[in-house]
Amino acid sequence: MVFIDFYPYVPPSVWMRVRPDAVTVWDDEDVRRRLDWYYRVMNDKAPAKFLIAKIVDAGENPAKLDLNGLWDLHRRLSSEHRKLWEKAVRGELGLEEVLDRKNRPEYNFLHVKVEIAKRILRSCRFCERRCGVDRYKRVGGCFLDCKTYVHSWFHHLGEEAPLVPSGTIFYGGCNFRCVYCQNYDISQVAPRSGSLVSARQLAQIQRELRAHGARNINHVGGDPTPNIHTILESLLYLEVNVPQLWNSNMYLSLEGLELIKDVIDIWLPDFKYGNDRCATRLSAAPRYFEVVTRNLKIAIEHGDMIIRHLVLPGHLECCTKPVLKWIAENLPRDKVLVNIMDQYRPEHLVVKYPRMWPELRRRPSAAEIAEAFEYARKLGLRYEPVS
Ligand code: SF4
Repeated sequence: MVFIDFYPYVPPSVWMRVRPDAVTVWDDEDVRRRLDWYYRVMNDKAPAKFLIAKIVDAGENPAKLDLNGLWDLHRRLSSEHRKLWEKAVRGELGLEEVLDRKNRPEYNFLHVKVEIAKRILRSCRFCERRCGVDRYKRVGGCFLDCKTYVHSWFHHLGEEAPLVPSGTIFYGGCNFRCVYCQNYDISQVAPRSGSLVSARQLAQIQRELRAHGARNINHVGGDPTPNIHTILESLLYLEVNVPQLWNSNMYLSLEGLELIKDVIDIWLPDFKYGNDRCATRLSAAPRYFEVVTRNLKIAIEHGDMIIRHLVLPGHLECCTKPVLKWIAENLPRDKVLVNIMDQYRPEHLVVKYPRMWPELRRRPSAAEIAEAFEYARKLGLRYEPVS
């Protein structure tokens, strides 16, 4: 088990006092409707998508197929899974049915996903960096080899109200190089200094977080994307119902997104930049806008979503407004929730080399935050009370 130096679970008597909004948020019919799938899984009224994947019969041992054959099989099983998920959404497929061992084939959809993920690791393209490195032999642009390192896991009380307490797992490594990263120690400086975890241990962590009251399993980092293979394999060993939450920069490749879209119940994307120039300058992420917007359009078809946007000082016109405008024009406004975050503070390289990114040396002003809120309001976005 992963070493942790404080008690990772928070009893209801504590979190309800610290975050009373995590209880009252569910009195809001609009939030309840937008997060309907997540809410039902969270309350064991519906089976999580990864459990549904376990009753989709792969028919044959996926290890015997080549990669093209695996993707063909994946496409077919994904459409079968979709039909079952839609049945669950309508209330026609329940938790008992998917947990019943009689309904479990020898090889299921998750086995296919795990097999593909492990093959991709030999020439990694989980994200749009598309390093192509063999992670069984060396590290990629995310600083990770084929192993998964967990730096901490606990009930997080600082997330959006519907998510608290969130069973958060912090993975080392990231495919971005944000100059202001607040988790730079685990994402960029020493990503492999965390505890090495196997898929079985990762399942055990999730089991414990849920058993002690987590509303979800929050995969974050760094970024969870480089760890897709271990996360998917952990779900093979997990038999408790718990919503899977993807807390990510969403710079996944299409292959990476294809692998996880059938097992994620709620997406928590971090939509940072309104253009590629800022994304390249501040996070070394080329083609950012095209990649993230493509992925958001796919993800919203496969689960509930709360989009985060961190207001950066001096980036209202180039980033905040284009991001909010794109959301309003391209995603269903009656479904998506937006969290406009005001907590930016100078960190990491911005502190070390302040002259390189002069606009980031301060916190966003109250006027900038107010303007961001007002802009979102005019666009008709629902941006509160989720934080
Ligand atoms: S996850 Fe992304 S950054 Fe890491 S090795 Fe794979 S393609 Fe490269």
